[in-house]
Amino acid sequence: MESAYTQTMFILKKYNISASKSLGQNFLINDDVIEKIVGAANIEKEDLVIEIGPGLGTLTNKLLEKAKKVIAIELDQRMINILQERFSLFTNFELINEDVLKVNLKEIIQKEKQQIRNVKIVANLPYYITTPIIMKLLEDKLEIESITVMVQKEVAKRLTAVPGAKLSGAITYAVNYYCEPKEVITVPNSSFIPEPEVESEVIKLNLRKEPPVKLKNEKLFFKLIKASFMQRRKTLINGISNSGEMQKEEIKQILKKLNISENVRGENLTLQDFANISNEWK
Ligand code: SAM
Repeated sequence: MESAYTQTMFILKKYNISASKSLGQNFLINDDVIEKIVGAANIEKEDLVIEIGPGLGTLTNKLLEKAKKVIAIELDQRMINILQERFSLFTNFELINEDVLKVNLKEIIQKEKQQIRNVKIVANLPYYITTPIIMKLLEDKLEIESITVMVQKEVAKRLTAVPGAKLSGAITYAVNYYCEPKEVITVPNSSFIPEPEVESEVIKLNLRKEPPVKLKNEKLFFKLIKASFMQRRKTLINGISNSGEMQKEEIKQILKKLNISENVRGENLTLQDFANISNEWK
């Protein structure tokens, strides 16, 4: 098998195309990194892999060797033509030409469920929509086992931070509520064509069977977290009251009851703290 670099250069030349910056196209050319992504995803023979943004198919190629089926979702029509030709002989390959944010993943998984054991998501994500993609994968409550993805390093740190630690943001809480996140490897910029302007990292999110905190109202819990991170420099009380979700007095009373300082900021609270606050709300 030719190296990822040779494959990439050959395809780009053959189809006379170049990477689209607006679609976040940075093609992986580092065989070692590709092996590590596939290894971390721990793909078994009975698995369905959903790949987001297959691009020229370099990672797809390896996934097809391991999985029972690969369903790849790609927005760029130019890539669709390439992938159809490249994998025309693979009976375990399905391609969907759509924006991943618009695809009904629940329906896709439901349709395959009888034929496969576990569903694993694997991707070198387009960085311009990392957060909406991750949030969609989590909020849709899909029956998936894990998400192994390449993201911008700075985002990786936020996604794998401990809630309440310095780097945490609203998404840190969502990720930790649904998953056990871990860092896999940092990836040098020279592993891509073209080289991205930011550093990259592969992370793996293992979906939890049960959430780590008990909630009376999941919607409210996430609303409070989002509200308190909307205005980072504001105290929790101001953040939440500005969102119109609770009155200042109400929040003050809840914080007092829970023995949490009135001046606390959202990023200082743990997942359990937010759960306690939302569970106190009448
Ligand atoms: N998997 C390839 C690789 O590793 O070389 C390409 C990865 S590249 C970082 C991101 C891919 O996502 C591109 O192929 C791009 O066209 C695709 N993409 C961008 N926006 C998308 C969207 N909204 N839905 C589906 N695919 C998208």
